[in-house]
Amino acid sequence: MRRNFQSLKLFLFSLYLLLGLSKPDPDPLQDYCIADTKKPQALYLNGAPCIDPELATSSHFATSSLSKPGNTSTSQFGFNVILTNIANLPGLNTLGLTLARVDLAANGIVPPHSHPRASEVTTCLQGTLLVGFIDTSNRVFTQNLKAGESFVFPKGLIHFLYNVDPRKPALAVSGLNSQNPGAQIASIATFASKPGVPDEVLEKAFQISRREVETIREKLAG
Ligand code: MN
Repeated sequence: MRRNFQSLKLFLFSLYLLLGLSKPDPDPLQDYCIADTKKPQALYLNGAPCIDPELATSSHFATSSLSKPGNTSTSQFGFNVILTNIANLPGLNTLGLTLARVDLAANGIVPPHSHPRASEVTTCLQGTLLVGFIDTSNRVFTQNLKAGESFVFPKGLIHFLYNVDPRKPALAVSGLNSQNPGAQIASIATFASKPGVPDEVLEKAFQISRREVETIREKLAG
């Protein structure tokens, strides 16, 4: 009797997996999708439409966008990120992948940020990086990466990369499992959004004065 029950459970579980009933909703490829209730409705797609497969060439699956260093001097944090996307690598469409080249100046930082739609695995190619993420119980995991070493940032969690070398630049390449991972830098999102988050909200959230809110806003706007 008990054995029959176990087999039934196993059978139902396998059926669920086979029918895909245990899958969550598909991940959205944009930040939001406001319902268009107007009629007639125009056509909107979750991603880009495809060209005729007969017209596909090898060049659609190749890119040299990551071959040159990005300019780290335009960022106050001393970093530059170049991403593959459906414009510079059209073959990537619908494959759920993005590759990123991350250049960091001496002591440059990719400040704490998150990707709402992707996990990320980063490999240090040059220099020494202090990398880490914070989980939802506010536990921090950090690691020092030398050239050739890798680290994973789980989906949606806040993470950072810091070039600990005060003299030499560093280079990393990251893979992300979405063609549109999205990125939010925590400090910029909270203090340099447009329009700004009300001062009062920031004063209370960070337990600081109006003057301190202004100082941080000014620094991050630069
Ligand atoms: Mn990242």
